[in-house]
Amino acid sequence: MNAYEETRKLKAFAVKLGASLVGVADLSLYNDVYGFSRTLLEKFPFAISIAVRLSDSIIEGITEDGPTEIYVHHYKVVNALLDEIALRVVNYCQKRGAIALPIPASQILDQNRLLGAISHKAIAVLAGLGWLGKSSLLINEKYGPRIRLVSVLTSLPLIVDKPVENKCGDCTLCAMVCPAKAIKGVSFEGRIPMREEIIDIEACDRRLSKIASNPRYGSKVCGLCIKICPWGRGKLR
Ligand code: SF4
Ligand code: SF4
Repeated sequence: MNAYEETRKLKAFAVKLGASLVGVADLSLYNDVYGFSRTLLEKFPFAISIAVRLSDSIIEGITEDGPTEIYVHHYKVVNALLDEIALRVVNYCQKRGAIALPIPASQILDQNRLLGAISHKAIAVLAGLGWLGKSSLLINEKYGPRIRLVSVLTSLPLIVDKPVENKCGDCTLCAMVCPAKAIKGVSFEGRIPMREEIIDIEACDRRLSKIASNPRYGSKVCGLCIKICPWGRGKLR
């Protein structure tokens, strides 16, 4: 099977499992290694970026006072679905004779910097699923930031997708709505900025920790910057 057909079939397989978006990144362009050695990553020329869309009705229920219990539950269910899709995609690649590694959808390895083994957002940007918004969220043209992501690294020969242009423009709604004043509202079109340049992750984490300490929620979720983005509200579609 040629790489074009291989890519088409793999994407269709992921969509059948519940993926809302699927893209392929050239992993040699990924620099932000945290959880893996460069030697390990070199075994995987490609990264498959998979997104599952969140429920609009649940996102619309989030307020400045806090998220909702159902959003906390939804967050966990979507992460579980992403991990399951990733596992099945791994086995699909392995059946085709390739090696493949699933990166957990939500697993923090560096508690101070709140980093996982690999940045799903950076992979998704390379795979053309969207752009890095001023909120530091991945913004998709169709669903805005109302998605969650998982990544599968693989040696299966695939056709890579191209990054898309940043379309935040003059908007700063996420910076205005953030109760922690964590989002700086910085424009960085045409380049990928350092995270510290666009968001005060400690300020965000203080709010998330406060929410997690509330027994109603028990999890570090907020969601206001997800709710407010016009690209997720259908206004700019
Ligand atoms: S998750 Fe909440 S606190 Fe963190 S940046 Fe978004 S709106 Fe601000
Ligand atoms: S709310 Fe506006 S500035 Fe923030 S990520 Fe969405 S489009 Fe970009």
